[in-house]
Amino acid sequence: MDVSYIINELGEERESYFNAVAPPIIQTSNFACRKVDDMRKLFENEYSGYLYSRGLNPTVDILRKKLAALDEAEDCLVFNSGASAIYAAVVANVALGDHIVSVSKPYTWAQKLFNHILPRFGVTTTYVDGKDIKSFEHAIQPNTKIIYLESPNSWSLGLQDLAAVAALARSRDILTICDNSYCTPLYQKPLAMGIDLTLQSATKYIGGHSDVVAGVLCGSTAMMQKIFNNEYCTAGLGVTPFHAWLLIRGLRTLPIRLQKVTENTKRVLQFLKEHPKVDGIIFPYDESFPQYDLATKQMKGACGLLSFYLDVKKIDDIVVFCESLKHILMAVSWGGYESLIIPGCASVKESNYDITKKSQRMLRLYVGQEEPEYIINDLRQALNNI
Ligand SMILES: *Cc1c(COP(=O)(O)O)cnc(C)c1O
Repeated sequence: MDVSYIINELGEERESYFNAVAPPIIQTSNFACRKVDDMRKLFENEYSGYLYSRGLNPTVDILRKKLAALDEAEDCLVFNSGASAIYAAVVANVALGDHIVSVSKPYTWAQKLFNHILPRFGVTTTYVDGKDIKSFEHAIQPNTKIIYLESPNSWSLGLQDLAAVAALARSRDILTICDNSYCTPLYQKPLAMGIDLTLQSATKYIGGHSDVVAGVLCGSTAMMQKIFNNEYCTAGLGVTPFHAWLLIRGLRTLPIRLQKVTENTKRVLQFLKEHPKVDGIIFPYDESFPQYDLATKQMKGACGLLSFYLDVKKIDDIVVFCESLKHILMAVSWGGYESLIIPGCASVKESNYDITKKSQRMLRLYVGQEEPEYIINDLRQALNNI
């Protein structure tokens, strides 16, 4: 299916809403039935139609069709956050005594789930480096039910070989889940490589304007129905019609935004690589990246998030650098229109500042959609202050 068709037309039935070009926000909590039998059918299977907006909603359904098609998935659920998509995907597939193998340092709130919540229910997690397929082989136990991946990782940018992990997991009857927020389905299709479930924080590129928090989960219809009937409806994890509408709007410009961010990232990287105060960069599509071959094999592109190290003698210089930026905002998240930065030292107590630790000299930059010179000039003037 053409990406343009998916984004512009799929799921939109304009005749049913006055030929309006933009779809309506069906802002309703509930839906009326004409016949008792219709109501009975919905009670029997809420996944079959419109009953109540904690379940299915027509505006959300337009978005679901588009997102499923982009991921080449049978079906999709949209959540009120990326974190709730992670939560539902994992919790739906484990029970007392089960075991998870996760790539090390997945998204913060996935770690919280694995380290603090699931152990209370007798589910344990082993973390693996994930760069070598053997690390997965060694960690698998007879009770392993899920292999959890995030490739590229949004902090370390490390990759896992998705096809190899999927093949290993299938041979052992283990479900695979991949967080694909970094790439979006435009730059990577985990399901086509054999992964069972793929998820994204739609807060990032799908929304794209730093004004919605939402999540996407794609996989088989049977799996989506199972999650819908349990975690999704029980905890009320679904996206609201208004937020779904904002995400449909975000999707219209996803390809062009990714294109711009990709171009900008190339320019900013070039600047950083040549700057004397920069001591190395980390970016999957740079030839210096240790997994460059895997990146170009399994991804169609890379953009936005990158890391770099400052060549400084004290952490205070990093503080000065960050606080001298005039346009690039110091903030979490990414995938929006605006460039953002997070210094590694922000997650360390000041009393533990230690310049000999390379991780404290690291900064994570998100390159946004401003003109590249605008971003580069800001970085340059801030670097001149140290
Ligand atoms: C932001 C993020 C999430 C969580 O998504 P929210 O929409 O913030 O709940 C999950 N994974 C990655 C890689 C992220 O960057």
